[in-house]
Amino acid sequence: MNAAGGAGIRLVLLGAPGAGKGTQAAEITKRLGLPHISTGDLLRVAIRDGSPLGRKVAAIVERGELVPDALIGEVMEERLSRRDAAGGFLLDGFPRTPAQADILDRMLVRRGQTLDRVILIEVPETEIVERLAGRRSCGRCGAVYHVRYNPPGVEGICDRCGSRLQQRPDDAEAVIKDRLRAYREQTAPLVARYEKAGLLVPVDGRGRPDEVFGRIAGGIPGLRE
Ligand code: AMP
Repeated sequence: MNAAGGAGIRLVLLGAPGAGKGTQAAEITKRLGLPHISTGDLLRVAIRDGSPLGRKVAAIVERGELVPDALIGEVMEERLSRRDAAGGFLLDGFPRTPAQADILDRMLVRRGQTLDRVILIEVPETEIVERLAGRRSCGRCGAVYHVRYNPPGVEGICDRCGSRLQQRPDDAEAVIKDRLRAYREQTAPLVARYEKAGLLVPVDGRGRPDEVFGRIAGGIPGLRE
């Protein structure tokens, strides 16, 4: 049983890059006491550390393309086998293709588990571009800011740990276009799949993070207060 009494809840967060998945994932996992499993974060740590995985994927991630499904499958197999994932989890950024959704289904079947909900955060593309281009993050503690909507106290410096903020290389405007295309072509088809399975919780992702969280909470057992 976790903090909110939602034993073993397994969630997926779907949405375009910049829809607010990371921000909402942090709040949901804090409230439910679940591990936040972000493939993007796992890959960025591997790249930063120069691990064999990181060396394989660095150029792909920098171009805004998707890492091959088989490789992501290995990363997730390892991550979901860790003990903290046995009592439920929230997946952020995975699955991202129909083949990855098949991989996830197989992993869950093998573990005798099922998904409980797939939360879809919807934001119009014009707003997404503005959000991503203004996003800055702390390479040390992972805190995320926006130059206009959520600026740090001192420009360019992390409020939490004092490190210099950076722009993710794949948030450069030229790359954003490619990431959005990858989303439209490869990830958006998953929406129909999860809708058909009766798992989809579509949420309007516009507005303040706490407003979006309130909408999500309305559709997830254990988050409603
Ligand atoms: P994110 O932080 O989720 O926006 O992911 C950043 C980048 O990591 C993506 O643009 C991809 O290059 C890569 N990536 C993250 N998750 C996946 C995934 N499930 N499948 C393929 N590539 C991924």
